[in-house]
Amino acid sequence: MRVWVFSNSGTASTNAAHSLNKKLKAAGFTINPARPDVVITVGGDGTLLSAFHRYNAALDKIRFVGVHTGHLGFYTDWRDYELDELVTALKNDHGERIGYPLLDILVTYADDTTGHYVALNEATLKRASSTMKTDVYIKDNFFESFRGDGLCICTPTGSTAYSKSNGGAVLHPRLQALQVTEIASINNRVFRSLSAPIILAPDEWVVLKPASDVQYVMTIDQFHMSDRPIKSVRYQIADEHIYFAKYRHMHFWDRVEDAFIGAKKE
Ligand code: NAD
Repeated sequence: MRVWVFSNSGTASTNAAHSLNKKLKAAGFTINPARPDVVITVGGDGTLLSAFHRYNAALDKIRFVGVHTGHLGFYTDWRDYELDELVTALKNDHGERIGYPLLDILVTYADDTTGHYVALNEATLKRASSTMKTDVYIKDNFFESFRGDGLCICTPTGSTAYSKSNGGAVLHPRLQALQVTEIASINNRVFRSLSAPIILAPDEWVVLKPASDVQYVMTIDQFHMSDRPIKSVRYQIADEHIYFAKYRHMHFWDRVEDAFIGAKKE
């Protein structure tokens, strides 16, 4: 099996990555950053997001494993004091994997060129200053005119991130669905949008057609772009999935409870 350890630059993570690399080599694994079967991230959820974007051209061939150097994250199942157990799990690997939906983003720029992107958590469209005005279409049918800070379209695994801060529901990651949440919408006699999160079925898509001649900020997970005028953006569930090596299974709602509530009854 070819493995690659992808670490953030913090001291705890680089130390854990160094130790993990030694253990993997001693156990006979091939260290291969170009064509890994398994990418092990060491850091937090942000590190896994970075690794996902680094390897997003080969998602069907790669399984991810997340090691956290702090508390458990949403994409990290292992702690940095469990490296021996992780190496043992990798040695007993039979290719088990679990896949989760991704967000496909197709941007048409004002000059009619296009850009195609994939997000693991979410994509947003916002304005850096002043309010954003955009028409919203669902399956090519006009739905509403939105005015506010922006809109956020998330995957099920991304529903516990930015979308949740916007008042979105937490979606179980086995659902094939996308969620649209508003970021500070303006609702008064003149402007009216739904003012509630919406959850789209797998065969549905959303198109935003923002007002022309203004600059927008488009975010895709931890990246942002604001350099080109945008004509429209189409969001739908991607054909690709992200796959995680399935060595241990943490009950999804336990993870949510642990991350956000953390007060188990005696
Ligand atoms: P960061 O380091 O500031 O991360 C933000 C926090 O989001 C971290 O605590 C991280 O653990 C957590 N996080 C990331 N993915 C998560 C998930 N799927 N479920 C629950 N928590 C998750 O920034 P970053 O590492 O560059 O991460 C980018 C992410 O930050 C974006 O994808 C977005 O979801 C999130 N974000 C959130 C807000 C907000 O909540 N207001 C604003 C901007 C970005």
